Amino acid sequence: MKNKKVRLKKRTWHYVQNPATYEVFCDRCNGSNVEWSEYEHMIWCYDCKIDTKGTEGVFGGPIPIECAKILGMIFDRWDMKKKRVLTWDREKQDYVPKKPVSKKP
Ligand SMILES: [Zn+2]
Repeated sequence: MKNKKVRLKKRTWHYVQNPATYEVFCDRCNGSNVEWSEYEHMIWCYDCKIDTKGTEGVFGGPIPIECAKILGMIFDRWDMKKKRVLTWDREKQDYVPKKPVSKKP
């Protein structure tokens, strides 16, 4: 059997929280036993054991960011290459490395 593989791009980042936090569930079993896939725009379902698109979750609709924050969602990104957290900078309109919370003695 020929395995017709769709060429998927590997992720370089994913959101810091679990897909289910953003109401992104498995689109096959509708389960929340999911994790970010290693591929872009995909999630991994532990129950179906597949990489799948998943549901749109909060990204499918115009949910105000401030509102999402109240719901406990964080849109910081985990930079998988440089292994650091990126956060949205309003002034730069770009994701920038998050400053570590410095503990001053
Ligand atoms: Zn599933």
